Amino acid sequence: MQVVTFAVLFSTLYRAMLFGGVRTALQRGRKAASLLLGKPSNPVGDANGKTDLPGSYRTVGPSCPPCALADACYAKRGRTGIAQRRAHMDALRSVAAAFMAMLQASLDSVWARLHVSGDFGNGRGGIQASYVEGVALGAEYVRKREKRTGPIAFTYTHFTPEKFDTYRERLRVAGIEVLYSDPQELQAGSAIAVVDVSKARARIHAAGLNALLCPAQQSKALTCRRCIKTTGGCLEARDRNRVVIFVPEKGTNRLVGEAQTE
Ligand code: SF4
Repeated sequence: MQVVTFAVLFSTLYRAMLFGGVRTALQRGRKAASLLLGKPSNPVGDANGKTDLPGSYRTVGPSCPPCALADACYAKRGRTGIAQRRAHMDALRSVAAAFMAMLQASLDSVWARLHVSGDFGNGRGGIQASYVEGVALGAEYVRKREKRTGPIAFTYTHFTPEKFDTYRERLRVAGIEVLYSDPQELQAGSAIAVVDVSKARARIHAAGLNALLCPAQQSKALTCRRCIKTTGGCLEARDRNRVVIFVPEKGTNRLVGEAQTE
């Protein structure tokens, strides 16, 4: 059996992606990952038009905590659906994709959107600790080599704060911001999907928090890339005492109404 450690994985991908132009860095990284692991990494590349950032993908369902709305999950449809069906639960293949997304983002001076589809799960309803630690080590590697400070990536989790807080802090120290998607437990740095924005805002204010209605759902000219540069977006939600609000998307139309930010 081939034994590949995270350290070997990172140094191999780093050399492959740095040797050549930035535009083709991901192609070279994917090829190097396949050769090293003997199988493809999880999908990695332009996440989608909404983020305009490099992103990685995990399998929807097995990598998520138990979810009553799994059948209606947006990540099972469209291009994201195709990518998540090609993804695998294997921690190394997942970490390889996340590492490449973070390095590509650093080469572009932006941020990575980790697992656009899926979550931190292990396929049995628990958390895949090896994936969490691998992603954290990968972020530290990228930050050190590329001399970056502060967050270099963000993502969301449906695991509860009670289960995930320790992992969240580990990831934050490494440079990855994780937002909680649990609508029952609002806190600074939550990100919730709501149907009634007014009611959600009232609840957020009552909890002493601020609301940010996702700007990328207000205008196609607004993407995560632009949002983070101008408002701090999801990356700074926790520091700005904010809860990010999403309105469930209808089909391929990601625009839901007028901008409402504070
Ligand atoms: S709030 Fe900003 S960073 Fe977060 S998802 Fe929306 S556009 Fe992206």
